[in-house]
This record gives sequence, C-alpha cells and structure tokens, in this order.
Amino acid sequence: MEDCIFCKIVKGEIPIRKVYEDEHNLAFLDINPRNPGHTLVIPKKHIEDIFSASEDDATVLVKAIRRVAIGVRKATGARGISISQSNGQMAGQLVPHILFHIIPRTEAEKGLGLEGVLPIKKQDEASMDSIAKKIAGSIPKGGSAERPAEQKPAESPPEERDAPEEHEAPSTESASPSEKQKIDFDF
Ligand code: 5GP
Ligand code: ZN
Repeated sequence: MEDCIFCKIVKGEIPIRKVYEDEHNLAFLDINPRNPGHTLVIPKKHIEDIFSASEDDATVLVKAIRRVAIGVRKATGARGISISQSNGQMAGQLVPHILFHIIPRTEAEKGLGLEGVLPIKKQDEASMDSIAKKIAGSIPKGGSAERPAEQKPAESPPEERDAPEEHEAPSTESASPSEKQKIDFDF
C-alpha cells in the first residue's frame, strides 16, 4: 500500500534497525522504545489488522513472533516479555499495518500487566454467561479474512430495506465479494 509507513519500511524506503527477516515477515526496533529492545514484528504484505488476516497469514506471523520473542528475551536478559497488538484507532492502533510489539519487561514495572491500561470492570453472573454465549456463537471456524469492522456497510433501518424478492438466496457464484466472505464463514 503506497502511503503505508510500514510498507515503505518493507520496501527499504525508510531506515530501520532490522533484527529478523524471513520470506513473509520483518522485525525491527520500535523507534519509540517502551523499554530497551522493544521490537516490532510485521508481515511484509499489507494487512491492516487481525480481521484482514487469513488464518494462513496469522499462522505464518505467529511463528515469527515466537522466534523474535525468544531472541529478544535472550538478548536483553528480560525475565518477562509482553506481546501486544492493537486493532483500530479505538484500541490505540497508530499504524494501519498489523504489527506485534515484543516488549522486554523490567523489575521497575513491578509486574504491572493489563491493569496498567484497563481497570477491571466486574460484571454480574448473568451478564458474563450471556456475553460468553454470544461470543461462542460468533467465532468462525477458520478460513479466509474477515472484513475490517469499520468497512462494513451501515445497516439501514428495517423500514428502509427493500422488500425481499422471491428466489433471492445468493449463490456463491453470484454473490458480491462481501457476500462471498460472509458465506465462507457460514460453513
Ligand atoms: P501501534 O500503536 O500501531 O500498535 O504501534 C505503532 C508503533 O510503531 C509505535 O510504537 C511507533 O513508535 C512505531 N513506529 C511508527 N513509525 C515508525 C518508524 O518509522 N520506524 C519504527 N522503527 N517504528 C515506528
Ligand atoms: Zn502497509
């Protein structure tokens, strides 16, 4: 993607401190390290976020993340390593090219984990049961990339929708790309 900063890095147009490269992935130091040795792992192809990644994309990426995390831990002597990844501006994603932060953690942080970013919000039992059921029913079996949530067309209110026509069930062949993706996930 032309104006993506990380695609430019992959093309060698922006200098980096590279620590790892394979056919599909690149790892280099974050320009704004949260701790010494803070490393980013990115796919070479432009994938915006986890929803734009296929299962194969994710598999290849996770293998590289594991290797780089081992290297970062060994090189820094860190006794803890945090691995983080953000999807969408609301989650704090700054660069729209998927990346994983590999961050060595130090004694100075006293074991601070997720609570340093998000405080606990206790839920009652019924709400916990309800959201667990909803999530379980929403998880795809795998396969192709999900569309980024932001790009989903806004649903028109029921009264504005066209009346359903007869024989309207879409076949995979006649479906638009977005419909095809939905069908892929429904197996
Ligand atoms: P995000 O917030 O998207 O998870 O993380 C983006 C990260 O990319 C930030 O930590 C930021 O410091 C890093 N970053 C942004 N631009 C560059 C760059 O040109 N070179 C390097 N090495 N890191 C960058
Ligand atoms: Zn990119």
